[in-house]
Amino acid sequence: MTPELQEAGARALELLHARAGLRQGSGDREASFGRIHKHGVPDFAHGVALYLDEITVSFDGFKALNALSLAINVGELRCIIGPNGAGKTTMMDVITGKTRPDHGSATFGSNIDLLRLRENDIAQIGIGRKFQKPTVYEYLTVFENLELALKADRGVSASMFFKLSGPQRDRIGEILTLIHLRNDAQRIAGLLSHGQKQWLEIGMLLMQDPKLLLLDEPVAGMTDEETERTAELFLSLEGQHSLVVVEHDMKFVGELTQGWKKVTVLHEGSVLAEGTLADVQANEKVVEVYLGR
Ligand code: ADP
Ligand code: MG
Repeated sequence: MTPELQEAGARALELLHARAGLRQGSGDREASFGRIHKHGVPDFAHGVALYLDEITVSFDGFKALNALSLAINVGELRCIIGPNGAGKTTMMDVITGKTRPDHGSATFGSNIDLLRLRENDIAQIGIGRKFQKPTVYEYLTVFENLELALKADRGVSASMFFKLSGPQRDRIGEILTLIHLRNDAQRIAGLLSHGQKQWLEIGMLLMQDPKLLLLDEPVAGMTDEETERTAELFLSLEGQHSLVVVEHDMKFVGELTQGWKKVTVLHEGSVLAEGTLADVQANEKVVEVYLGR
């Protein structure tokens, strides 16, 4: 069991206990998990959602990221490809505050220094991350999962006494339609297919209305049909959110980029090439380190 799943399970149990009127053991941790901190509001007026400048991350002298620079525009859908070990997940770890770089800067909007914020604060200011494995509350229904995500900033016990407003209920309805789970709203999440769990987790992220979504290999393990639906979903999110999608599935990347959007190729911790999918697929260096193998 991964730590994330353990935590998800613990939180789901806490919720069930709270429902049954039992005392909670870890209210302190839960309460601190979602406390709202006052930060400057990110400024997106200049059109930049995220700017990484010369980010270096070393693990025992090995540079997982090596002076990585990257800019993502507001509303942009950017696909990131590259061989295993290129640093793609580490890049997401830096953006979300999980890993601190040795050098460089990471800016959200034009004004928020991400390197000064903690992981929970970064989530609060509008950066949502989808890990490879789905981490939904298996014992709760689809609807309850979304409800809980909406109230995550209140802490689990407080949310028990919080009633959904009409607009919030409508928002859950919209998300259910978007993630193709409207007919499964009352199903227990643990019974969903792998692909449906992935969508539910994306729906949970969307409940927080993130400005930037980071998606690490979102279609790994999905059926072809689920993969196509996921591409449609991401295309429908583009514009309202910036999306950074790490994927190996070139057909999926082709569907997302529609022949014209920019693809970034990472290799050995920095950008090896950028351009349309056709550009990078024709790039000899890219073929050599990644596509040709
Ligand atoms: P990708 O997601 O592109 O496959 P990662 O970002 O996971 O690559 O890893 C980049 C490199 O950094 C790999 O060589 C990996 O082994 C190494 N690495 C990642 N995290 C750690 C860590 N916590 N400690 C040591 N090495 C790490
Ligand atoms: Mg990875």
